[in-house]
Amino acid sequence: MKIEQNYNLFKLNTFGISANAKFFVEVYSETDIKELFNTQEFKTNPKLFLGAGSNVLFTKDFDGLVILNKLKGVEVFKEDSEKVVIRCMSGEIWHDLVIFTVLRGLWGIENLSLIPGTVGAAPMQNIGAYGATLSDVLESVEVYDIITGEKKIFNKEECRLGYRDSIFKNELKGKYFITAVSLTLSKIESKNISYKTLKEYLEKNKIEVSTPKDISDAVSLIRKSKLPDPDHIPNAGSFFKNVFVSKSRMKELSKVYPEMPYFEESTDATVMTEDNDFVKIPAGWLIEQSGWKGKKFGNVGVHTEQALVLVNYGGASGEDVSALANKIVADVKEKFGLELIPEVNLI
Ligand SMILES: Cc1cc2nc3c(=O)[nH]c(=O)nc-3n(C[C@H](O)[C@H](O)[C@H](O)COP(=O)(O)OP(=O)(O)OC[C@H]3O[C@@H](n4cnc5c(N)ncnc54)[C@H](O)[C@@H]3O)c2cc1C
Repeated sequence: MKIEQNYNLFKLNTFGISANAKFFVEVYSETDIKELFNTQEFKTNPKLFLGAGSNVLFTKDFDGLVILNKLKGVEVFKEDSEKVVIRCMSGEIWHDLVIFTVLRGLWGIENLSLIPGTVGAAPMQNIGAYGATLSDVLESVEVYDIITGEKKIFNKEECRLGYRDSIFKNELKGKYFITAVSLTLSKIESKNISYKTLKEYLEKNKIEVSTPKDISDAVSLIRKSKLPDPDHIPNAGSFFKNVFVSKSRMKELSKVYPEMPYFEESTDATVMTEDNDFVKIPAGWLIEQSGWKGKKFGNVGVHTEQALVLVNYGGASGEDVSALANKIVADVKEKFGLELIPEVNLI
């Protein structure tokens, strides 16, 4: 294990931001973690655990220690005739885990195909797409307490998963290193194809779903056709979360903006709201209606097809991106009285 100094993070974040970390280290094993926890650099500096860097925006250099997660390994932890618990180390690539499961005919995470990033970051914001979220299948999350070095296991309820949210993004932010994630998957067919875009795609292409791989393949193709590839246009996916408002507020909004779309999505909102009295307004629509879609300002811009995605056209700084994000937030607030909240972690 080697701690490096003044390390450039350009290749380690999908926004392609050239920021430096004061210290940088890669961890490959529990032995590395234990050794790292005893170093002065770890004990005396702010710390940032990094997976694939697909949900971060470095707004400046990081004056501390960046720990790149390389913990690998997947195992079948428990199994009966109907279910399988898969335990996966947190540095594995999420989509590789999806492939591992669909090739074994296991149902549960096929709708979450091709979401960039590592397994360890998935509980951070309860990743979700195409009508499914991690919370549908999460069993537990294993962590190290970064102060005491003790190991702990959070069960699903303790993770307090919500819409792109968890306890690790809130009360326990920065307090734990997630080392492994366990998921309960089904051997019995349990397809989830109600999400509109997915349903339409399957119907249009006359695809009869009989395996989780059928869904994984369809979702992957849809995603490739819709989302900008960070390898070509650096970005971090949806920059903002969709907006939740109470049903009564929505009624008022509909009077002023009859065309404003909204959705009652219980999968996203259940954990976040006690009474489930909320609806979701697509943030992309608010941004588009405010005239930002496709706009370019120097090196940064709003993607031409996806108003929710901010992009770096090359050489932008994190400050450039966050300045654009702030302008969008202010404009949407002024136009609709609604608050956009970043989904991306601003560092
Ligand atoms: C093109 C594109 C499409 C996307 N589509 C989706 C989508 O459909 N749905 C969705 O939910 N997300 C989506 N995202 C966002 C992103 O893929 C997810 O948030 C992913 O889980 C981030 O994983 P990562 O390893 O890159 O995390 P990073 O960006 O490396 O880290 C994200 C946050 O988690 C923390 N963290 C990471 N690993 C650990 C760990 N082991 N322990 C403790 N803290 C940790 C980091 O400190 C940081 O705060 C998309 C991103 C892109 C670029």
